[in-house]
Amino acid sequence: MSSNDYSSTKAGIGSSADPDLLSNDEVYDECDQAQWVQLSEIASIRKRAEQMNAPERHPDFDGIHCLDCDEPLVKGRLSLGKIRCVECQRILEIKQKQYSS
Ligand SMILES: [Zn+2]
Repeated sequence: MSSNDYSSTKAGIGSSADPDLLSNDEVYDECDQAQWVQLSEIASIRKRAEQMNAPERHPDFDGIHCLDCDEPLVKGRLSLGKIRCVECQRILEIKQKQYSS
């Protein structure tokens, strides 16, 4: 198997090429690509999770009421360092997702 045969296989031209080599090559490339996509996805998900879990601060936050709708926050969210209620946080995340894409 010369290097010339290999490149024609990769381009999908050599129909008479060794089928084992063809499939191996394709699997390797797809695997590589999928892995890269997966890694970058994991990185962005992790980053987002860190941002979501980090205690939030805002000059207008009074420590009790939702920053956006002024509804009092439940203790669970206050203890997590959240400054918005569940609904406002959800809306905010939808907006952020739209901005980032
Ligand atoms: Zn709210």
